[in-house]
Amino acid sequence: MTEIPFGRFFLPGPSDVHPDVIRAAVRPMIAHRGKAMDDIIANIAQPLKTLFRTQRPVIVGTCSATGFMEMAVRSGVRNRVLSLVGGAFAERFAHIAAACGREVVRLDVPYGKTVEPDMLRDAIKRSDVDAVSMVHSETSTGALAPLEELAKVVQEFDDIMLLVDTVSSMGGVPVETDQWKLDFVFTGSQKALAVPPGLALAAASPRMIERAKTIPERGAYLDMVTFHEAFSSGQPGPNTPAVSLFFQLEHQLGRIMAEGIDVRCARHKSLLEACERWVEAKGKELGLSYLPDPGRRSWTVSCLKLPEGVTSKSVTQPLAQQGWTIGTGYGKLKETTIRIGHMGEHTVGALEELLGLIERVLD
Ligand SMILES: *Cc1c(COP(=O)(O)O)cnc(C)c1O
Repeated sequence: MTEIPFGRFFLPGPSDVHPDVIRAAVRPMIAHRGKAMDDIIANIAQPLKTLFRTQRPVIVGTCSATGFMEMAVRSGVRNRVLSLVGGAFAERFAHIAAACGREVVRLDVPYGKTVEPDMLRDAIKRSDVDAVSMVHSETSTGALAPLEELAKVVQEFDDIMLLVDTVSSMGGVPVETDQWKLDFVFTGSQKALAVPPGLALAAASPRMIERAKTIPERGAYLDMVTFHEAFSSGQPGPNTPAVSLFFQLEHQLGRIMAEGIDVRCARHKSLLEACERWVEAKGKELGLSYLPDPGRRSWTVSCLKLPEGVTSKSVTQPLAQQGWTIGTGYGKLKETTIRIGHMGEHTVGALEELLGLIERVLD
């Protein structure tokens, strides 16, 4: 195979995939109910638990992360959900809940801000909800929610499921599924995990599984209970999974385990810090500033406001001509912000090289 480029693709999803992981897909097909697949499931089960910090089985589905967002709603919300919304992906979560016929109570904060514990407590008291939906790392704004603190607030109440989108945080920011008592935690393959797109992954608490069993219209194809039963008995889900992506997931989990979750998260934190240092030292002079507040910035994606009159395309296009990729803004922030996805396999060295190029483009 020809050489596979790597190290200059800073899109906030899909993220850059290591050449070895790209190559891991090149294998003959195997039966998805047979020894070779059994071996893969056995090989990934413990690394996935380590990644999610859970003792429970981690389920893997062949769909993008949004599929498991819908699973979270269908299997986790009985009647009414409180949706915390501060960006486009949280907006999608609320929309899906409504589209699945659930009543949605919204707690909105301006884009780039995060819901804080006191606000959440007040909102739950005011609204008789049986679930809360939220996004940990809001990839559209670069904001990182105080997940541990918010989870504590939810636990002050009885029988409210906490459904958490960790799509751009899992594998880059600490997520303590069991310790923080998160009921449903889901992610996708193509963000901080740095596997190609196409797989969704999740862990559910025992009470979430019990809840799901009491909801008759939880759907069929993405029924959490059948996924959970399949993976609990070493099966790769109820249907034919994307087998080649499982080859790649297996390989990448080996790499992630070799690096270590704590080291991997620390690397992501230093990527954020490198970007913050640069904004302070150079970016500010060029008119750039962070959208989220200090202490509420995701370790995996930096969303920077552009100076008046500069469009995101006028930054991303010259970079693309030099072989580097970053993201424009997302949704209503598309024109006025840029997003640097420093997630997955990136190093501080490569990020600093990129920031130097951005400096020249804006100068
Ligand atoms: C990318 C992303 C999604 C959607 O993931 P898909 O795999 O495109 O369905 C949802 N939430 C967040 C926070 C994301 O970053």
